[in-house]
Order: sequence, then C-alpha cells, then structure tokens
Amino acid sequence: MKFLSKSILVLGAVAMIACGDKKEEKEDKITIGDGASPQSQTTTKSSESGTSADEDVVEVTIEGNDQMRFNKDEIRVKAGKTVRLTLKHVGEMEKSVMGHNWVLLTQGTVINEFGQKAVQAKDNDYIPEGTDAVIAHTKMIGGGEEVTIEFEAPEAGEYEFICSFPGHYSVMKGKFIVEE
Ligand code: ZN
Repeated sequence: MKFLSKSILVLGAVAMIACGDKKEEKEDKITIGDGASPQSQTTTKSSESGTSADEDVVEVTIEGNDQMRFNKDEIRVKAGKTVRLTLKHVGEMEKSVMGHNWVLLTQGTVINEFGQKAVQAKDNDYIPEGTDAVIAHTKMIGGGEEVTIEFEAPEAGEYEFICSFPGHYSVMKGKFIVEE
C-alpha cells in the first residue's frame, strides 16, 4: 500500500508539472501575440530560428462565398512588410461557375478595363497574359478550397483588389491600403 500511494503521488506531481507547462506556453503565446491571429503565433512558435523573420510578415485572410462576395472591402498593411495572404472560398460551388481569386492591381488601373481583358484570359486563370497591372494574385479556386500567396507590400498608398472571374469585379473588390 505504501508503494502504491507513493506512485500515485508521483504521478500526480508529474500531471501537475505537465499542466503547468501548458499554461506557461499559453501565456507565452498571448504575450507574443500583440493582436496577431492565433495562427501566426503558432507558426512563430514552431520555428525559433524564423521568429525574427516572421515579425516582417503580415498575415491576411480574406474569404469569398457563393453569393459572389468577399468578406472584406478593405485591407491595411504596413509598408516594407511581406504579406502572407490566404484566400478561402467558403462556399460550395465549383470553380467553373463561382470561381474566386484575389488580384491586387497597380495604382491607376481601371477596374472595368482590366476586368474586360480578364474575361478573355480564361486559359490563364482570368489573368491577362503579360499584364503589368497586377502586383500579386492568387490562382482561381472553387468552393471549399483555399490558397496562400506571399508578396512584398508595395510602396505606401491606396490600391484596389478584385476577383477577376467574369462579372465578379463589379462587386468583389476592395481597397488595399499600405501605410507608411
Ligand atoms: Zn469571384
């Protein structure tokens, strides 16, 4: 009996230590967080060598749905950052009927003109070939899919983003603001 109760005590102590560790980790994450999304904190934690580099990365998530809408009409980032943008298609419709991409246009690009050129670029994911009007873009995705791209934030200023699927740019668009 003595032996048994001892080992129970030891087990109890181990369990408590394990609990304590977990709590500490959580607290760590909260202090590192500073308003960033929980996902980015996990990424930062997993690779210590990448911690300093990750401070220059801004994570952005934007969703498109079956109602032909983005869930954001404005995205703000700081100049000089790397933007890691994830586009999620939260609908169920196929790419061929309700495809979405995320296209960041250069300043001065007229959305209507670009959109009309994009319609003719079906074979190139609705991105006009050889265009100089695109700073960054994702591929076209369908319901349930997601895609992540990384690009350097352009110089400070106001830009526009769209989905270039035929007909979508009139409502699937928003401002991409790069702050000093
Ligand atoms: Zn779309």
